Amino acid sequence: MTTTPHLKVAIIGSGPAGYTAAIYTARANLNPTMFTGLQPGGQLTITTDVENYPGFAEAVQGPWLMEQFRAQAENVGTTLLAEHVESVDFSKRPFTLTTDTNKTYTADSVIISTGAQARWLGLESETKFQGYGVSGCATCDGFFYKNQEIAVIGGGNTAVEEALFLTNFASKVTLIHRRDELRAEKVLQDRLLNHPKVEVLWDHVLEEIVGDDNPKSVTGLKAKHVKTGAITDLKVSGVFIAIGHDPATKLFKGQINLDAEGYIICPPGTTNTNIEGVFAAGDVQDKLYRQAVTAAGQGCMAALDAERYLATLETTSTLKAASK
Ligand code: NDP
Repeated sequence: MTTTPHLKVAIIGSGPAGYTAAIYTARANLNPTMFTGLQPGGQLTITTDVENYPGFAEAVQGPWLMEQFRAQAENVGTTLLAEHVESVDFSKRPFTLTTDTNKTYTADSVIISTGAQARWLGLESETKFQGYGVSGCATCDGFFYKNQEIAVIGGGNTAVEEALFLTNFASKVTLIHRRDELRAEKVLQDRLLNHPKVEVLWDHVLEEIVGDDNPKSVTGLKAKHVKTGAITDLKVSGVFIAIGHDPATKLFKGQINLDAEGYIICPPGTTNTNIEGVFAAGDVQDKLYRQAVTAAGQGCMAALDAERYLATLETTSTLKAASK
């Protein structure tokens, strides 16, 4: 007879939030097991230079940084499973997790850190220059565009905030939006439209990013007017795609409370979901900050929350046993 492995702490997802949760729960002797999923290391594995993760005086490479997270989690006693969780059942305790290898696990507590993925337009040239002039994160990469002309694609809060942030470095920022009005909040719109370094190209979609192969770099873009089809050529050295993110929460639909955009709902400043014993950390619950360091901070919070929850669980079962 095969027995179902039972875990005290199951961590789903292996970005900065998940690894930090693993490090803290391992050091609390909770023997965490992490399901690393299909893209171990998360979004940082598709980034090149990381200059804003504290503790490193010089830029480090995203994949290297995630490798360090992984090694640290493993060194302190985390079990890493290269399995993808395909379904969960949070309706009864212990919770149940089933993976792509058809294995089932039970768990007393679960930390969800499956992250979010930046949306991309899907252009061939966009993929080609990703990390070489095409970016999905102004906070991460804006610094590299001092006194250069750049473009931002999108019309929501993220696009407008990123465009405004990029004016701190760039000599000119062109926001390219597919409609003739922005989705972003009014106050952000006003700030953007009155900024001397910003120009908006209304009713345009990005058609192609152009650049050099050696060294790989962006030199410009072609934008198409959605009504006339006319092409505008822009000379830019950076293109920031800011058309939204998709949190990786399909798996949890119907199991825990998600907001209209699919993010896990946690009361501000906590990692608690609506299911006691299930916690969420990082981009899967955070659409505002989305930084490796904030995700790591939330991973630590989730670990401490899980530790507290498991201690209460233990006390309750000890009291129950004593009263029998
Ligand atoms: P949004 O979904 O709000 O906006 C995405 C933008 O990208 C829209 O303008 C959309 O155009 C455009 N877009 C989408 N797909 C394409 C495409 N294929 N081609 C061209 N343009 C495209 O995403 P955000 O990331 O801006 O925001 C996500 C959530 O996070 C929102 O709830 C937002 O309010 C919140 N947020 C809040 C912040 C704050 O409060 N300071 C900061 C950042 C985010 P269209 O308008 O035509 O649909």
